[in-house]
Order: sequence, then structure tokens, then C-alpha cells
Amino acid sequence: MDTHLAALLQLQELEQRHRELHSQITTLPQRIAHLEKELQPARERQQAAAQAIETQQGERKQIEAQVLELKQKIEKSRAHSAEVKTNQEYRAVKDEIEWAEREIRQREDRLLALMEQAEKLEAERAGAQQTLAEQEAGLAGRREEMTAAGEVWRGEQRELEKEIHALRAQVDANLLHRYDRIAKLRGKALSAIVKETCSCCRVRLRPQFLQEISNHPERRFFCEYCGRILYQATVEVPPFTGDIQVAG
Ligand SMILES: [Zn+2]
Repeated sequence: MDTHLAALLQLQELEQRHRELHSQITTLPQRIAHLEKELQPARERQQAAAQAIETQQGERKQIEAQVLELKQKIEKSRAHSAEVKTNQEYRAVKDEIEWAEREIRQREDRLLALMEQAEKLEAERAGAQQTLAEQEAGLAGRREEMTAAGEVWRGEQRELEKEIHALRAQVDANLLHRYDRIAKLRGKALSAIVKETCSCCRVRLRPQFLQEISNHPERRFFCEYCGRILYQATVEVPPFTGDIQVAG
């Protein structure tokens, strides 16, 4: 295998890694945002409890105002009872007071029930709040981890870009052009010949073609079906040293 092909093979690997990193990095904000959704149930529970408490407090205030009004009414009736002249009038005032007292008792019973309920609601809200706080703490840790991973990826990406740039500068321009064109179209531009087959498109290569490939190791061959640049998988890929010789 000529050194240009060896360099391209390495380039293919680096660019593949670069693409993986790019996809990891670009989807990172989305994945971080997705983490937030995990808080939703606890947040909803907390909001529901807070809402119930508010509704309840509204009802309590209303009832307390009614009780106050009823008590004022009783005061007035009592003051009025001193001025009544007939028994009939007196009974009417007495009935009014008794009615108001019954109304007050009913409302006080309701207030007691509401107070009991309020304790449960407060406990529910506190529980939801604690769950939320715990989940938020866990999430902050994971968010930090992910952000840190993103930084590591970006660093690796920058290193890769340098290596890719150096490699590309040293590969034969025509070959590189062809490599880019195929890579853009098919993702992978280089294909190993494995068991007389193009390993990428799985098409079996013609015997004459295979013969030609082994007779001319200095030439470049392209898969007749997918157009990818072929190389012999059996040949050990020499490590790329950056020392390129022009192939014959
Ligand atoms: Zn092929």
C-alpha cells in the first residue's frame, strides 16, 4: 500500500471520530435540556399542593369573614332585644340569635376540617419540595458531568482538526479530491477488499480485476460498483509517518 493510501486510511478514521464528536457536541444542549424534564413530576406535585393550599386559604378567609358578620349580627340583635316591647318581638330576636349561632357552629366545624386538611396539604407540599430539591441536586451533578464531557470532546476535536489538516496537506490532491467526493456521497471513501469482496458495498470483485489489483500494487483501484477506493485488507497498514512518497 502506498503512503498516500495509508494517510487516507488514517484520515478516514480521524474524520469519522470527528463526526462522532460533532454529533455528541451538537446534541449535548438537547440532552441537558432533556434532563430538566425529569423534574417535571415533582414540580407538578409541588405546584398542585401549593394551589390546593391557596384555594383552601381562600375558603377559610371567606368563612372567617362570614363568622365575623354573624357575630356582629348577634351583637346587634342583643342590643336590640333590650329595646323590644312585646313578647312576640322578643321571641323574634331570640330566634334570630339562635339561627346565627347555629350558622356560626356549622362554619366553625368547617374551619376545623379545613385546618386538618391544611396540615396534610402542607406536609404534601414539603414532601414534594424535598423531592424536587434532591432531584435538582442530582441533576446539577449530571449537568456538570455532561458539560465537562463536552469540554473534553471539544478539546479532542481541536486536536483532531490539527491532525486532519496536517494529513490532508500531504495527500495527493487528485486522490484527496476523489476521497472527499466519495466520502460526501457514501460516508466512507475507502473500502477494504475482504475475501475478494468490496467490504463496503459487499459486491464480489471480478477475478480479472482482482488479478490486476495484485499485479499492480502501485496503482489505485476503485470498486466498479460503489466507486470507493479499494485497498487490500491483508496488507498490514504501515503507520503513517508523514513521509509521503509519490506513488507510481
Ligand atoms: Zn464497492
